[in-house]
Amino acid sequence: MHSEEWRAFRFAARKQLTPDTYIFRFLLPEGCVFGLPRAGLHVVFRATIGGKVVERPYTPVSLLHQRDHVDFVIKVYDRGVMSKHVDSLRAGDSLEMRGPRGAFSYEHGLTHVGKRSAPVKQLAMVAAGSGITPMMQVLRTALLDNDSPVELTLLFANRTRADIIMRAELDKLAAAKPTAFRVTYFVSDGGGAGDGEGKEDDGVIVGRIDQAALAKHLPPPSTDICVLVCGPSSFNDDVDLALRRLYYPADMGIVVL
Ligand SMILES: Cc1cc2nc3c(=O)[nH]c(=O)nc-3n(C[C@H](O)[C@H](O)[C@H](O)COP(=O)(O)OP(=O)(O)OC[C@H]3O[C@@H](n4cnc5c(N)ncnc54)[C@H](O)[C@@H]3O)c2cc1C
Repeated sequence: MHSEEWRAFRFAARKQLTPDTYIFRFLLPEGCVFGLPRAGLHVVFRATIGGKVVERPYTPVSLLHQRDHVDFVIKVYDRGVMSKHVDSLRAGDSLEMRGPRGAFSYEHGLTHVGKRSAPVKQLAMVAAGSGITPMMQVLRTALLDNDSPVELTLLFANRTRADIIMRAELDKLAAAKPTAFRVTYFVSDGGGAGDGEGKEDDGVIVGRIDQAALAKHLPPPSTDICVLVCGPSSFNDDVDLALRRLYYPADMGIVVL
């Protein structure tokens, strides 16, 4: 991986995670790591599609020290130019990438935002849909860190239960380290005619991540909390505003990815 030069990576395989989201695996030269320095950073994909050069950012979900391959979780849109292109790749086809990019990253109790760094004890994450990807890499990195100084909280919104990306892995991580990581799922469509707001038997809340939900499920505002937000722009704007109204510190305390 090079920050300015485009490098070609060979596509290996894809696996379906939800009705419209897949994990796409690309090969690295044998024994090599992808080369991102810290968790939370993304790269840019480039391809010539229909005669036009198209570039889009994507965030790997595999661990930084993973050798031999790198994984991306990508939601494929019916009319999505790049996501459809990635979905059409066959084993052995190549795709150009460069990076890292991104203003936010995390390593061992420190958040970096632009040129500034701050120690954190609580890392909270509020994600919607494929906005889980930067959170996943941060979560995996922090939970592998045996003397990690942070507690992690994830609020994850999706349309239906079937759309919850990587739920099995998130549940496994939470079960393995219950004092270090808590996850709460929200779905807007509970699937049942009688579904109202509230927590269902399977631990999924039917409802939106609004100000009341943030106040109830996040650790309280403090000087050593950082809340990461990642989803569609309207979701990001709503959550950002609600967090400010709840007095989470806007400076380094709320980071919209
Ligand atoms: C920093 C960053 C990291 C990202 N990382 C990831 C990642 O790891 N995985 C991932 O899946 N995506 C990620 N994205 C989003 C990704 O870059 C593309 O925007 C997305 O894949 C759509 O690109 P496309 O070319 O397929 O669709 P486009 O051709 O750009 O859009 C075509 C149509 O697709 C639909 N569409 C596209 N985006 C959205 C949306 N957000 N919500 C609703 N409908 C939409 C709309 O109908 C739109 O008209 C990231 C974005 C950013 C900014």
